[in-house]
Amino acid sequence: MNNKRSSDGTQSRANRDTDVIVVGGGVAGLYLLYRLRGLGLESIAFEAGTDVGGTWFWNRYPGCRCDVESLEYSYSFAADLQQEWKWPERYGTQPEILKYVNHVADRFDLRRNIQFNTRVVSAVYNPQQKLWTVSTDRGAKVRATFCVMATGNLSTPRRPDFPGLEQFKGPWYHTGLWPHEGVDFTGLRVGLIGTGSSGIQSIPHIAKQAKHLYIFQRTANFSLPARNRPLDSAREQRHKAEYSARRKAAFDTPFGIAGYPTPTRSALEATDEERRVIYEQKWAEGGSISFLYAFNDLLINKASNDTAAEFVRNKIRQTVNDSEAAELLAPKTHPIGTKRLVLDTNYYETFNRENVTLVDVSESPIDKITSEGLRVARSDYALDSIVFATGFDAMTGAMLDIDIRVEGGISLTDAWQHGPRSYLGLTVAGFPNLFMITGPGSPGVKSQMILSIEQHVDFVADCLQHMRSRRQSQVEAESEAEQNWITHVKAVADATLYPLANSWYMGANIPGKPQIFMPYVGGVDKYKKKCDEIVADGYKGFSFAS
Ligand SMILES: Cc1cc2nc3c(=O)[nH]c(=O)nc-3n(C[C@H](O)[C@H](O)[C@H](O)COP(=O)(O)OP(=O)(O)OC[C@H]3O[C@@H](n4cnc5c(N)ncnc54)[C@H](O)[C@@H]3O)c2cc1C
Repeated sequence: MNNKRSSDGTQSRANRDTDVIVVGGGVAGLYLLYRLRGLGLESIAFEAGTDVGGTWFWNRYPGCRCDVESLEYSYSFAADLQQEWKWPERYGTQPEILKYVNHVADRFDLRRNIQFNTRVVSAVYNPQQKLWTVSTDRGAKVRATFCVMATGNLSTPRRPDFPGLEQFKGPWYHTGLWPHEGVDFTGLRVGLIGTGSSGIQSIPHIAKQAKHLYIFQRTANFSLPARNRPLDSAREQRHKAEYSARRKAAFDTPFGIAGYPTPTRSALEATDEERRVIYEQKWAEGGSISFLYAFNDLLINKASNDTAAEFVRNKIRQTVNDSEAAELLAPKTHPIGTKRLVLDTNYYETFNRENVTLVDVSESPIDKITSEGLRVARSDYALDSIVFATGFDAMTGAMLDIDIRVEGGISLTDAWQHGPRSYLGLTVAGFPNLFMITGPGSPGVKSQMILSIEQHVDFVADCLQHMRSRRQSQVEAESEAEQNWITHVKAVADATLYPLANSWYMGANIPGKPQIFMPYVGGVDKYKKKCDEIVADGYKGFSFAS
């Protein structure tokens, strides 16, 4: 096939349909389309859902809310947008964030590049033609020079695989695939499985409606009060007056969120009373970053972490009237903060309701689902409806669901058989012209994600621009750079308490998934600096071809 070069260095249009294929129409996919258009590159995005929003399109369960403050969890790329948008509450609700994402799509006319209701099933690279061919579940095949996976880290719901589910007579729901019309649990006996973030957020809401709510808990998770409230307009004005400086400052912080003084003291340097006062103050303030910033070693020193964990366990004991339930709810199997730290509104208080029962399934797992409900340790629970808050095949699920391969070369499934490999969480050696947004090996899920998404999209857009100006048509991560990065990501994680938890960061929630700690936890600040150095060094670790 003709592989002529056009005057700007890219391949001629004769053998391809577009410059860049984007997979995903969430926050990342939208910003990609915006940046690519700005570069004068043509793009097509495919989105499995019927509209934009990604996470905020799919997760419509009651109580779904962001746990990063609204003024932070938003795009920074357009000054007018961030000045004009009004967030009503401290933390955005799912409907509010979805409204915002829709507004962005309309304001920047991004929908015209997106094909909705279309799932990408394979992406195959032809090294001779230097082209990706992407196939969809609607039978289309589209060819492009570059393919960018904006498929999300938490976009592949973990489908319940309990034996007997097909016999259950009532309706069941997954929090990550919630019906758009909502669900009315009034008068129903509801079973809820899973007490991670989605479970903890939805439980207080479902309990208010249901006749009885049975919560089946395998692992207790730490949750802190969100202290959500209407956004104070004076505070909003102050924040907006300093927006650009705050956005810039966020890149100098580990979690990509500015405004919290960096702690300088170990928890062990404080007296019991000093610690108590500080933790009380953080508990009253609400929010996870504030709490984890109480001292400088909560995520690296087990003894320090124990002081914070015990403080929260005591709060749970003080809140939950039934001491047996309180003890079950007080997490003891992992250090605080090493699993996603949840923010809630009245979660522990909900266990004081007459119509709520906590069922411990840590020792005796759920035997099976029956036509009438659920059986645990030979006890039957009669249920009208079941909610699965069982989370996601995180970080790798969406990528591995697509058959990604190089003709005559390897497939991503093979490359990642022992766990994900990447250079910077952006590219995978052996897969030219393929990028990921906030892929495994990047700080994405351990940060304010919109900030990390913008940083990755900017990296990709700048790289494509760099190539165009040099008339290069192929970029690939070098194997050695990738291996060095993987070694570094592991060393950084091993110096923390994170690997002590059986978390989705480790792949531990999916049977058979390789147990590798996937995110980069060195911090957004160090990561961004590293990326900037790599670019300044002529994209060190990447090889380019014409
Ligand atoms: C319940 C919940 C709460 C969260 N709260 C926070 C928070 O408080 N703070 C924070 O920073 N982050 C939070 N996150 C993380 C959140 O995912 C990110 O902040 C952000 O929305 C991710 O955007 P994205 O575009 O990268 O991915 P997503 O929003 O996941 O979008 C990816 C899109 O790709 C589509 N897709 C995937 N595979 C294919 C395919 N093969 N073909 C076509 N389309 C495909 C999916 O349908 C999806 O719409 C939360 C996540 C969840 C699930």
